[in-house]
Amino acid sequence: MSEYQRVLSADPGANYRAHKQEIDAAIQRVLDGGWYILGQEVADFETEFATWNGNATAIGVANGTDALELALRACGVGAGDSVLTVSNTAVATVAAIELCGATPLCVDVQPGTYSMDPESLEHALKAARSGKLPAGVRFPKAVLPVHLYGHPVDMPEVMEIAERYGLMVIEDCAQAHGAELHGRRVGTWGHVGAFSLYPTKNLGALGDGGLIVTDDPKLADQVRLLRQYGWRERYISLIPGGNSRLDTLQAAILRVKLRYLNGENERRRRHAEVYHRLLASTHLKLPVTRPGAVDVYHQYVISTEDREDLQMFLSAKGISTQVLYPVPIHLQPAYRGRLPRLVGLETTERLAGTILSLPVYAELEEAQVRRVAEEILRWVEQHV
Ligand SMILES: *Cc1c(COP(=O)(O)O)cnc(C)c1O
Repeated sequence: MSEYQRVLSADPGANYRAHKQEIDAAIQRVLDGGWYILGQEVADFETEFATWNGNATAIGVANGTDALELALRACGVGAGDSVLTVSNTAVATVAAIELCGATPLCVDVQPGTYSMDPESLEHALKAARSGKLPAGVRFPKAVLPVHLYGHPVDMPEVMEIAERYGLMVIEDCAQAHGAELHGRRVGTWGHVGAFSLYPTKNLGALGDGGLIVTDDPKLADQVRLLRQYGWRERYISLIPGGNSRLDTLQAAILRVKLRYLNGENERRRRHAEVYHRLLASTHLKLPVTRPGAVDVYHQYVISTEDREDLQMFLSAKGISTQVLYPVPIHLQPAYRGRLPRLVGLETTERLAGTILSLPVYAELEEAQVRRVAEEILRWVEQHV
């Protein structure tokens, strides 16, 4: 392989090419079928995904942000409510809470796993109970943990706390299709789970898509109403709803891709093992897997104080990396200074300056992963 061959940080086109014949056939089938919104393909995809994930129901929607918003609304979150979540996440997580008219309350994360710290969650709830909420904001109605980078949150702890305080639990599974903890998939722990099917996610459409999973028939019914004008029957709105439908074409494409997802997640894990093995002896902080967890490595995130230098070094070698996310939500211009806080976010703020995502998608060749690791080792040598 050429020394200068580029390594992309994500490559949705490579996934399409890997399944081109089947995807092209699925697209042709839909084009010929003459039905382009929801329909049988979406219903079949929903059933197949629910079975695959171990949920009673899956409901296709237009994107992951909508999936979160509709899940929250179905749980009864609305104006004047508040929802606990984290600040090191896609902006969509926090945006969805505000789209419901509710107030996001961010708690801190654990340094090793980058995910919601149950201790910080408990502190926030104690502070809320002792009257530290701003005027006009009610005691939290729900908690929205994020399975960031493909790694499951400590759900037994989060569920125990949520039950004690009477909170609904909405899991943000946008980066963690297939991740497990103690043999249970993400999206089966809380009352409802929300997935994004954005092209670069572990399961990605060739456009926008989202999915909500739940075992609760009442929540499922509510989500179905919300996704299409409050309709159960055409042209009769039972509740005020909007439009967040999944395209028939995307469902047909996703049905093909779902069949390969377990194998592709396994390839991501194998790439992660190569990184682990080759980088173990360096000063870099490598991803930590919680005991009992099966990680699906949406991102392989390392941490170093010299993040910018390493990123530039790799870029000069044709290796693309990403920083997810460079600025915690509560420090971004749209949110800075106006999100109420019940606890400190020191770990969240410290980690944002050190994290770097290495290429880890399924279609990478092992030789490419090795080359990335070897370039990093070269950089480490120059930095001792
Ligand atoms: C991608 C993502 C979303 C939003 O999904 P869209 O489909 O882009 O709307 C929400 N939460 C997390 C953690 C994500 O990574």
